Amino acid sequence: MRDWLGHRAAATPNELAVIDADSDTRWSYSGLDAAVDETAGRLAALGVQPGEQVGMLTSTGFLSMCLLHAAQRLGLHLVPLNSRLTAAELAAQIEQVDLSMLVCDADTEPEAVEAADGVPVASIDEPQWDSVQSFKTVEPESVTPAEWARDDTQLIVFTSGSTGRPKPVVLTMGNLLASAIASAFRLGVDPDDRWLLTLSLYHVGGIAPIFRSTLYGTAVVLRSEFEPGRAADDIDRYDVTVVSVVPTMLKRMLDRRGTLSDSLRVVLLGGAPAPGSLLRRCENYSIPVHPTYGMTETASQVATARPQAAFENPSAVGAPLLWTDLTIVDDGGSVEQGETGEIVVAGPTVTPGYYGDRVGDDEDPFCEYGLRTGDAGYRTDDGALVVCNRIDDRIHSGGETIDPGEIVDVLREQHGIDDAAVVGLPDEEWGERVAALVVPVDSDLTRSAVETACRDRLADFKVPKTIEFDEDLPRTASGSLDREAVRERLQELADDRAAAE
Ligand code: ATP
Ligand code: MG
Repeated sequence: MRDWLGHRAAATPNELAVIDADSDTRWSYSGLDAAVDETAGRLAALGVQPGEQVGMLTSTGFLSMCLLHAAQRLGLHLVPLNSRLTAAELAAQIEQVDLSMLVCDADTEPEAVEAADGVPVASIDEPQWDSVQSFKTVEPESVTPAEWARDDTQLIVFTSGSTGRPKPVVLTMGNLLASAIASAFRLGVDPDDRWLLTLSLYHVGGIAPIFRSTLYGTAVVLRSEFEPGRAADDIDRYDVTVVSVVPTMLKRMLDRRGTLSDSLRVVLLGGAPAPGSLLRRCENYSIPVHPTYGMTETASQVATARPQAAFENPSAVGAPLLWTDLTIVDDGGSVEQGETGEIVVAGPTVTPGYYGDRVGDDEDPFCEYGLRTGDAGYRTDDGALVVCNRIDDRIHSGGETIDPGEIVDVLREQHGIDDAAVVGLPDEEWGERVAALVVPVDSDLTRSAVETACRDRLADFKVPKTIEFDEDLPRTASGSLDREAVRERLQELADDRAAAE
C-alpha cells in the first residue's frame, strides 16, 4: 500500500477533499494531492529520509494536514507535538523520540528553537531565526511514494499525561487502517460526509478524521482554533455531517447556540465521561450523539454507542468495535459480566508498544488479555461497556470503594453547578474522604445546598465531606482533568477557609 491520499486522488480526483473555513477555500482530491506532493518534495529537499522521525509542532491548518499526508508519502514516522506545552515540556518529549527534524510554524518557532536541542528546525512559514530552515525557499525534489507494510510505524503520538508523564505511543499503518474500517462499520459512511475538525492534531482523535476521510473519499472542514459558537455556525454553513468533541466542547456549543444543525449525522462524544444532563439535552434536541470510549494506544475508538442506546443508558459507551476484544480483569483473571475490573483491550487497533520502551519504571502495559487501560469498567447485560473511572482514582474510605464518577454526575446535574471534580483527600479517621471541587454558575450557590442535593441521591459514605468552590477546574496541557492539582487546590481552599473561620 502507498500513501492513502495517492490512492484516493487516483480514484476520485474531482471529489471535495478539504474546506479551509478560515479562508473559505476548497480543495479537490487532485488539488490536495498536488499540494502534498509539493510538501513531500520540500521535506525531501530538506534532507529527511524514509523511516526517520519528524516532529510536527504546528496549529491545525491546511499545511499541517499536508504534512500528515506528506509523511505518509515519504515513509516518515510523524510525531505530532502539543503546541500548548512549554519549551521545557517539549524538550522532554523531543528527547524521547529521536527526531531528525522538527517542523514548526511562525507561532511555534520560539518554542521549537528553544526545545530542539540540536535537532534541525524547519518552518512552514517565513523563519525569524537564522538557524531555522525555510520550507518556502527550498526547491522541492521529485518524490517516489513509499511502500507501506501493515506493521510499519506511521505515527508516534503522546498520551495526554493525565496519570503521569505523557507516553509516546507507536501507531502502525495497520492500527490506523483497522481503526478507520471498524469505525466506519459502527458510524457508517455517507459519500457526502463532511467531518469538522475540532480536536487538535496532536491528539489521535484530531488526526484520525484526516486519514479516515481520505480512505472514505469524503471531506474534512478545517478551522485553526476551536471556538464553540463559531464551530456550531460552521456545522450549519458547511453542511457538516460528523464532528468529534469532548463533553465540555459540546456543552459550550449548546450553551451558545441552543441546538446544532440537523445536517449532523454523528456527534462523536468521547475523551471523558459524558454527563447525563448533556445526553438529555441531546435527546431533547434530537442531536445524534454517539458516546465513545477510546485512547491514544488504540488509535482512538474502542467502543461507541448509538444515540438511542445512549439516551436509554447514559453511562454506557456501547459495544466494542469490530475486531476489538474487551476483557474486564480483576486480580489477574477475567471477571463475570456485570462485575467491575480493569478494562483490557486487544485487537488490530492496539499499539505494539511505546516508542523505545521509555516509560520509566511503569509496570508492563500488557497482560495476557491485551493492553491494560488503567480504566475501571464493566459490561452490561446487553454487552455495552460502562467506563467508571481510572483504577487509581477510586476513593477508599472507611472500607468502602467509591467511584468518583458517580458523584460527579450527581453534582453536574444539580441546578447551579457548571462543572465539578471529585477526589479522595487523606483523612485520619477514614483513610480517605470524598472531596468535591465545584464550579458554580453564579455566586448564589451554598455549600449546604450542594450537600443536601448529594444526600438526596447518594449513600451517606459517598456524600462529599469537603466541598469547595472555584472558578474553573485545573487541567493538563491537553485539557484532561489534573487530579493532583484538584487535590492541591481543594486542600488550599479548605485551609484558607479554616483560617478565615
Ligand atoms: P495518560 O495515558 O498519559 O495518563 P490519558 O490516558 O488521559 O493520559 P489519552 O490517551 O488522551 O491520554 O486519553 C485516554 C483516556 O481518556 C482513557 O484511558 C480514559 O481514561 C479517558 N476516556 C476516554 N473516553 C472516555 C469515556 N467515554 N469515558 C470515560 N473516560 C474516557
Ligand atoms: Mg492513558
